[in-house]
Amino acid sequence: MEVVKSICPFCGVGCGVDLYVDRSTVVRLSPAGDHVVSKGHLCGKGTLAYEPAYSWDRLAYPLKKVKEEHIRISWDMAIKEIVAKLKEIIQNYGSEAVAFYGGCQNTLEEVYLMQKLARALGTNNVDSCARVCHEPSATALKEMVGIGASSISVEMIPKMNTVVIAGESVTESHPVLSHYLTEAKKNGTKLVVIDPRITGTAKFADLHIRLRPGTDIALFNGVGNYLIENSLIDKEFIKERVTGFEEYVKGVSKYTLEFTEKVTGVVRGDIQRFAQLIALKETIFSWGLGLTQSSGVNGVRAYINLALLTGNVGKRGGLLVFRGQTNVQGSGDLVKPNVFPNGPMNDENAERLARIWNFKPPVKPGLPVTEALLRDNDVKAIVFMGYNPVASMPNRTKVEKRLRNLDLLVVIDAFMTDTARLADYVLPAAVWAEKEGSVSSLDRIVKWRFKATDPPGEAKPDHEILRKIAEEFGYVFVDDPKEIFEEIKRTVPVYSNLTLDEVMDYSTNSRYPSHEITLYDEKFYTESGKGKLIFVQQPEVKKEMTLITVRNVTRYNTDVVSGRIPGFGKYESPIYLSPDDAVELEIGDNEEVMVASDCGKMSFRVKISREVQKGTAVMYMHDFKVNYVVCDELDEITKIPKYKQTKIKIVKLNRN
Ligand code: SF4
Repeated sequence: MEVVKSICPFCGVGCGVDLYVDRSTVVRLSPAGDHVVSKGHLCGKGTLAYEPAYSWDRLAYPLKKVKEEHIRISWDMAIKEIVAKLKEIIQNYGSEAVAFYGGCQNTLEEVYLMQKLARALGTNNVDSCARVCHEPSATALKEMVGIGASSISVEMIPKMNTVVIAGESVTESHPVLSHYLTEAKKNGTKLVVIDPRITGTAKFADLHIRLRPGTDIALFNGVGNYLIENSLIDKEFIKERVTGFEEYVKGVSKYTLEFTEKVTGVVRGDIQRFAQLIALKETIFSWGLGLTQSSGVNGVRAYINLALLTGNVGKRGGLLVFRGQTNVQGSGDLVKPNVFPNGPMNDENAERLARIWNFKPPVKPGLPVTEALLRDNDVKAIVFMGYNPVASMPNRTKVEKRLRNLDLLVVIDAFMTDTARLADYVLPAAVWAEKEGSVSSLDRIVKWRFKATDPPGEAKPDHEILRKIAEEFGYVFVDDPKEIFEEIKRTVPVYSNLTLDEVMDYSTNSRYPSHEITLYDEKFYTESGKGKLIFVQQPEVKKEMTLITVRNVTRYNTDVVSGRIPGFGKYESPIYLSPDDAVELEIGDNEEVMVASDCGKMSFRVKISREVQKGTAVMYMHDFKVNYVVCDELDEITKIPKYKQTKIKIVKLNRN
């Protein structure tokens, strides 16, 4: 039996897998023992990751919508018609009427080609689903320390004195990393979890800070103020390597213990203990969607401030971002509407790109995907690649209406997703094991996926589909993923030091930019070479019932792939309420309620749970009904939706 190496297609840990191929079929998958991070571990989802490829409902032929029905057409016809329609739209409304979005499940090579194609057509309307998870992290990291990615590797977790985890349950979202936490605990590492819920990870924390949702900034400012007042900051580190200290001190001075306690609901003893634990050297500050989708870029800024104040960035600690999808780090690095893959969006970088691409991209920033779908704009045609925003965006009613009103909707996917159902053309894509290319993990490690089998019918790798569209427009794009990788190296500075050999060898540390386990040992990669403290204010948080959407270990995002693993099927998530709220609302376990927000209403079954904080309700993040209720307020700077801040009203349904 042939054994082919690949990377799990689910979360950002990027575990290595060995695929066993018999007569062109993957018959078994086992953990790759030589993978530098996963070291022979896999979670349940990863172990069965090859199953969906053989699902009966794989898309195998191009489809065109005719009178509300999708009918089979040839590739030739599909590409010709799509390109003709795109040309017509560009002619009538200009290049900015066209957009390309998606790609966090795709390889680096595919997302690179997607943004290149969009820019060849004269638009910067390119974005990925990194927008809706960690754009605040990428933005805050870039401006405060230099690179929009984790500064430290997960392998360092067991070597730390303290690990702080904010807004993330590792046991649910990144299960394989639990073994690093277990090892850390054995070594005496103190684990601090910041989460309104009692999560699986919070259960084995030394300190669980159960703050009110949305009050992260007040907590971090309060801790910052306490560190300063009690001389727990690293004065030398701040003097030598950090800017903005004076303004920060002034800003946080009002965040006394009393004030912080009042806003966050966290008792002062816990605030003090948190401060004392992070004042120790060798501390990791890690975070997930609980922070970004609740407090946006300012929440991340306020958190990174604590790492800089305590001198815990560089050799002696770091910043770790729990990225959710297999290549979401890579998509975020390469595909942004306001940044070129080679740096800031300006004429100089456009000229540099022109020398590699043979065409000059436009320099006017494009629209983030959230603005294209949730705000008024002139986009008339969208191509989604491996992206199912109908199920994953907030305010689903608005998103469905927006997509129905487009002049052209094209979806490239392996399955008939909720978004594909609305599409004028659906192009069948190969899945991860049916193509090759590289992906970037949550701690900057780039690894190659080797091709194990062929896709079904006429399905093709996305890079081939993009190349076909480009060709029909008259552009010649390289199609071999290895050649595209080399072009990425020439184009994207942070990827320039990697070699294909090390990316293909699972046992090597192929981290970008230069194989660092920890970044910023000597200097930060900001313009000044220093870390930047940025004081931010806690906004007002209304004390109303708040809906929080969360992950679940047996599900994955919109369930398109994980829902096709036998035994992992799609099911309707209940709404979890605290016992206190259930009593107050006179609602019993398993009863039906109507949940209403400013964006919509839906009925759900209630589960009463002691793990849920009073004043909050919890649901699976992309349950097929929940996003009809989740509202579409966007972070002002990074345009991420505040998925974890929807104010709701709950009414018991009279079933008689
Ligand atoms: Fe896949 Fe993530 Fe599980 Fe690893 S932890 S096997 S990458 S889902």
